[in-house]
Amino acid sequence: MRSLMWFRSDLRLTDNPALTAAVTSGDHGTVAVFVCCSEQWLEHDWGAPKVDFLLRNLEDLSRRLELIGVPLLVLQADFFAEVPSVLLEVAREHDCEALFFNREYEVNERRRDEGVSRHVGGAGLEVLAFDDQAIIEPSALRTTQGTFYTVFTPFYRSWVRSLEESGIPELEPSPGSRRELPCQPSPVPTEIEGFAPAKGRFDGWKAGEEAARRRLERFLEERAQQYPESRDVPSQEATSSLSPYLALGVISARTCLWDAAEANKGQVTGGEKGLAGWIRQLVWREFYRHVLVGYPRVSMNRAFKVETERIAWRRDEEGFQAWSEGRTGVPFVDAGMRQLRETGWMHNRLRMVTAMFLTKDLLIDWRWGERFFMQQLVDGDLANNNGGWQWAASTGTDAAPYFRIFNPWTQGRRYDPDGEFIRRWVPELAGIAPSALHDPKQLADALPAKPDYPHPVVNHASARVRALEAFQATR
Ligand SMILES: Cc1cc2nc3c(=O)[nH]c(=O)nc-3n(C[C@H](O)[C@H](O)[C@H](O)COP(=O)(O)OP(=O)(O)OC[C@H]3O[C@@H](n4cnc5c(N)ncnc54)[C@H](O)[C@@H]3O)c2cc1C
Repeated sequence: MRSLMWFRSDLRLTDNPALTAAVTSGDHGTVAVFVCCSEQWLEHDWGAPKVDFLLRNLEDLSRRLELIGVPLLVLQADFFAEVPSVLLEVAREHDCEALFFNREYEVNERRRDEGVSRHVGGAGLEVLAFDDQAIIEPSALRTTQGTFYTVFTPFYRSWVRSLEESGIPELEPSPGSRRELPCQPSPVPTEIEGFAPAKGRFDGWKAGEEAARRRLERFLEERAQQYPESRDVPSQEATSSLSPYLALGVISARTCLWDAAEANKGQVTGGEKGLAGWIRQLVWREFYRHVLVGYPRVSMNRAFKVETERIAWRRDEEGFQAWSEGRTGVPFVDAGMRQLRETGWMHNRLRMVTAMFLTKDLLIDWRWGERFFMQQLVDGDLANNNGGWQWAASTGTDAAPYFRIFNPWTQGRRYDPDGEFIRRWVPELAGIAPSALHDPKQLADALPAKPDYPHPVVNHASARVRALEAFQATR
């Protein structure tokens, strides 16, 4: 039998359930395929940073697959709707009798996969889908009432209990030895129309499984111990920065867990605080996938808390532009936004602060920010991005209560006391005393010497009152 392996957000050979199954059952070889859906990606707000990283990872994947005798064909289909016929055609062309893939959980992706199963299965091929993206399959855990969780802590407890009962899921064995290529791989495009070329700007994100693996090892060896104290300090490289690799499945969450647990002498919750704390962050990723499956409206532009759809968000185009350019006049916010634009990545503390600033200080709809982040992020991931935005906007599961509004000045003082992070990303503010970077009055006094930096677009105290009123009006 010849098998067809369809790659999506699982761009790796190591610990890839669908790939291992495809290669194992393909005694007459395996053909692999990746379908670029550029129009659909645009609709899903994917941006150049993510697509650039994707293509570079595909290149690495293709090279590795070739070494085990699996050619990767990179095909084009504008929209998901065309994928079923593209796959059937390629399966027929290469005499494949079964299609293998790992499940994705977003609504459009699930509909696409159902369409593929109907079309390809209806033509007589076997279709086999596997769970891969999360350590525990997203719909497996339920409350005692049988419902999906809406609060993280009980989800986390249930997740830990499940691992205690069944153990950490085993890693898949890597697919077997070299065989004859059933056909030649196709070249991997270096650019896709519709996405502004990134021109090597994001090359700092080295592509490939080896790079992901090295990042994980370095983090566990050098930084995990200090994670609880330093993970909120954006001037330090204190977190793993594995999110772009996890978003495209260049490394599996199971591998991250196994290695972290091993470093923690087999423990998931106890042991080293840093390691247990990092594993807990991996569970946030699991939680937001659980929410995506349980409450599909969140992946369709809807708020989890339905009543918050009545909030009178301000259609403030100017404020949005200032925010997106990192020119709000609030240094900590601007530093975060510029880090995002420059590197395609933003530190988690800044993601929270900038998202809270947009949705509360500027009272702009979280969907504007979610979209902008998705377009800019190299690690853009619907579940995590939506979860983060709805958390900050107080519209989501286990979200920040609407009345607990971050003061962006205080946040800066607390997490970047010396202004190191601010000065790195906002060079106009060089030479300004740290205390002035975190105090609007002192900053106003210093600004005449810095004509390139704007005055704050909003006064935090009055904006806070405005946001509270807008939320209270919906209750
Ligand atoms: C408004 C907003 C938008 C976000 N958008 C995204 C996004 O598009 N893609 C994305 O991967 N993450 C997103 N996050 C979550 C988080 O900011 C990033 O996962 C994290 O900063 C990535 O850095 P890291 O890999 O060094 O994380 P580490 O601290 O090393 O954590 C390890 C991994 O755990 C997961 N993780 C950590 N924190 C969270 C969290 N709060 N929620 C969900 N998963 C988490 C990630 O997969 C991360 O790579 C968002 C958060 C907010 C507040």
